[in-house]
Amino acid sequence: MVLYSPGRTSSYPTDPVDSGIRIHFLGGGDEVGNVGCVLEDKTGTRILIDYGLAPTRPPRYPSECPPIDHAIITHSHIDHIGMAPWLVGHHGTRLHGTTLTAAVSEMMWRDTYKVSSIEGYPLPWDMRDLDAALGAWETHDMGEWFEIGAWRLRFHLAGHIPGAAMIEIETPELRLLWGGDMDTRQNPNVAGAKPVKCDILCIESTYGGREHPNRVEEEARLVARVKEVVSRGGLALIPAFASGRCQDILRILHTAAPHLEVHFDGMGTRVTKHWMNNPEHIRHPEGLEKVWRWARKVRGKSDRKKALDADVIVTTSGMLDGGPAIWYLNRLRHDSANAILLTGYQAEGSGGRSLLENRRLPIFGNITPVDLEVSQFQLSNHAGHSELHSFVRACEPRHVVFFHGDTEAREAISAEFKQSPTPSLPLNGTSLNLK
Ligand SMILES: [Zn+2]
Repeated sequence: MVLYSPGRTSSYPTDPVDSGIRIHFLGGGDEVGNVGCVLEDKTGTRILIDYGLAPTRPPRYPSECPPIDHAIITHSHIDHIGMAPWLVGHHGTRLHGTTLTAAVSEMMWRDTYKVSSIEGYPLPWDMRDLDAALGAWETHDMGEWFEIGAWRLRFHLAGHIPGAAMIEIETPELRLLWGGDMDTRQNPNVAGAKPVKCDILCIESTYGGREHPNRVEEEARLVARVKEVVSRGGLALIPAFASGRCQDILRILHTAAPHLEVHFDGMGTRVTKHWMNNPEHIRHPEGLEKVWRWARKVRGKSDRKKALDADVIVTTSGMLDGGPAIWYLNRLRHDSANAILLTGYQAEGSGGRSLLENRRLPIFGNITPVDLEVSQFQLSNHAGHSELHSFVRACEPRHVVFFHGDTEAREAISAEFKQSPTPSLPLNGTSLNLK
C-alpha cells in the first residue's frame, strides 16, 4: 500500500510553468481507472481532475496529490472518486461535480470504507475525512460556466453514466477538453457525448483497438438468453455494477420482456433512488420511474428468499466479488436450469473471471465449483475504437492525450493520428507540457 505522507511521495514537479498547460498524471495515465491528474499553467491556476482508487486487493492509489484548492470530479465511479476524502481531509480541497455525482459519492465512499475494513486493507482516509468530503461539494449544472483562478470551466454530458461530465477548460492561452470516462453512443439511461471544439483533448482509451458489438443486437441477445433460461424453468442471475449497468439491464428487460418477474437487489437500488431525485441527468426519466415500479425491490431477508422463485435477479456485485449476487449464486448453483449472465468486464482476480475461466469461484471463502450456464454480454458504456476516433476528429484539437488505457489500447488508437492532432501517451508520474 502507498503510504501518504504530505510532500514526500508526490511525483508532482515544483518548478513553475512557462507557457501552455502542464498535464501531470498522478494515476490513470497508462492504466485503466485509478485516475488523478493535475493541470497547471503560468497564472499559477492549478486543479486536480479526479482522485480515485483501483479496487484491487490490495487497492492501488494514484501518487500523492500536491496541495490543491480545487478538484473536478468527473463521475461517481470509485476509480475516479475513491481518494477524494483524503484530498479534502489533507488539503481542504473543494470538490466540483454535478449534483448527481455528489449525491452518489457518499454511498460509494461508505461502501469502500466498509469493504476495506472487511478485507483488511485500511484506507489512507478515515470517517472524519469522509464527513469533511461530504461538505466540500460545489455542484454545477451542465453547460454552466464557473471560474477557478484565471480559468473558466463548464461541464458537458459525457454519456457513460448519468451525471458523468466532460470538462471544457478555457485558460488565457488555450481551450482544453477533458473527456473523462465517456461514450458517444446513447445507452438506456443517458444520451451520448457530443464533440466540443478544443486545442487540447484529453481522452480515455479503454477500448482503443477494440470495437463493440452492435448495441441493439447485444441487448437482443441478452433478452433472448433470459427468455430461454426462463422457458426451461430456470432463473437468470444477472450480476451488474451498482451505478449504471443495473439500471441499464432493468430498462432493457422492461422494454423487451415486461411479462418477466424481475427482482432488484443490492446497492444499485439506492443508486437508482438518487437518479430519480436528479431526473435532469437521466434520459427519459419517466421510463426509469416505470422500471422502478415494475421491478420488485429486495428489502430484507424474506424478500431475498422470495426472489429465488423469480425469473430474473439483477444485483451487485457485477464481478461476483461479494454482495447479494454471491448469496443468490450459492442457492441457485444446484439447479442446472439456472444461468449466470455476466454483463460487464470481469477483472483479473475477480470471482466472475474465475467463473468464466475455471468454472469455480470463492463463495463465502470457499472455492466452489459452479456447474451452470455462464454467458457474457458486452454492454460497455465506454466509447469503442471507432467512436473514439470520430470523436477526436470532430473536436479538431491540435494535441490529443490518450490516457486511461493499457499500452496496447493506447497505441492502437494513437496509431490513427500521425501528425494532426499530435498524439501523446502519458505515463504516471510524468508531465506533459502542451501549447
Ligand atoms: Zn466510470
